[in-house]
Amino acid sequence: MGCSLRMRDRRIMPLAPPSGNPLLTPGPADKIICTQTISSVEPFCARACLLFAQPTRLDEALDLAARIRPLVLAGGTDLMVGASADLGPGPVLDISRIGELKGIAVADDSIVIGGGTTWSELVAAELPHGFDGLKAAALEVGSIQIQNRGTIAGNLCNASPAADGVPPLLTLDGELEIQSAGTRRRVAVAEFITGNRKTLLQPGELVTAIRIPRQLAEGRSSFLKLGSRRYLVISIVSVAALLVPDRSNKVIEARVAVGACSAVAQRLPQLEAALVGRVLDASLVDAVKTEHVAGLAPIDDVRGSAGYRKDAARQLVREALLAAVEGRAGGIA
Ligand SMILES: Cc1cc2nc3c(=O)[nH]c(=O)nc-3n(C[C@H](O)[C@H](O)[C@H](O)COP(=O)(O)OP(=O)(O)OC[C@H]3O[C@@H](n4cnc5c(N)ncnc54)[C@H](O)[C@@H]3O)c2cc1C
Repeated sequence: MGCSLRMRDRRIMPLAPPSGNPLLTPGPADKIICTQTISSVEPFCARACLLFAQPTRLDEALDLAARIRPLVLAGGTDLMVGASADLGPGPVLDISRIGELKGIAVADDSIVIGGGTTWSELVAAELPHGFDGLKAAALEVGSIQIQNRGTIAGNLCNASPAADGVPPLLTLDGELEIQSAGTRRRVAVAEFITGNRKTLLQPGELVTAIRIPRQLAEGRSSFLKLGSRRYLVISIVSVAALLVPDRSNKVIEARVAVGACSAVAQRLPQLEAALVGRVLDASLVDAVKTEHVAGLAPIDDVRGSAGYRKDAARQLVREALLAAVEGRAGGIA
């Protein structure tokens, strides 16, 4: 017999909730809003309870994350799209009101972006030119509404092969700060994403910040995205480039990363090595060879064939390098 869902009850739960439900033990969250599907018929229906916690302090969030192992929701722009699959009956921890996860701090050796910083907040921040590429990517994440809600950590944790934030953060040698109640660790962006929608994030952990070394932040950078239309488009190929010259205008650090052409966005180490030592001018594009993109493993899908993606990647790499040389941040190719 199917279960009968007789009533939906939406209310703010008191901090001393009814006993007997292990998910509703009193916690430090400001409020726990419970949308509870109540059934008097079958016990499993009574478990179909969506707990929604919205703390304003990081320690509260970490405590809840450790105790109830919730689904973490930041801007919700990825989660809500897959809502039927992702937002099941389990508890949800909304971290969007935690001030400690917001903002960008500039230190001597690094620039630290709060994990809950939205794309719009990043675009509005005054940052060195090494961030021009990341800002150009931010401006192409969906629409302005999506940029106002979507966060940088959400983009990384969702781990889509086409995530636009990943290639620029790879070129910036980004490192995630990850916390749980009582632990703290750092993981390079390059290691954090392990496959299509797979990361090293463990249950109970939150990405609290992304740290960028200062030296790379002073470079010249760009981001280019190829899509099937001009606006609100998923990348068929995306490329980020970052070049740091010395005083004689020779490249001393080069980073090039390609997104949407493999399960995880990849840097092109052989090309990067070929760029170091060259004069930072338009002739840099001559260094790009077909073999530099040979390691990409794009898929055939509705947006483009694997062959098209590989050809496009090579061309986009050239254009992204040129944009960085000329001080153009990029955007849609
Ligand atoms: C119409 C539309 C267009 C879009 N266009 C683009 C696009 O062009 N390019 C692009 O790259 N993306 C695009 N996206 C996807 C999405 O907007 C971005 O990936 C965004 O950055 C996700 O951030 P969020 O805060 O909304 O993540 P959420 O949806 O809140 O969360 C995503 C995942 O990350 C986890 N998570 C979030 N924050 C943390 C944290 N601090 N610690 C631990 N786990 C966390 C969540 O549990 C979830 O698994 C689009 C989405 C929509 C709906």
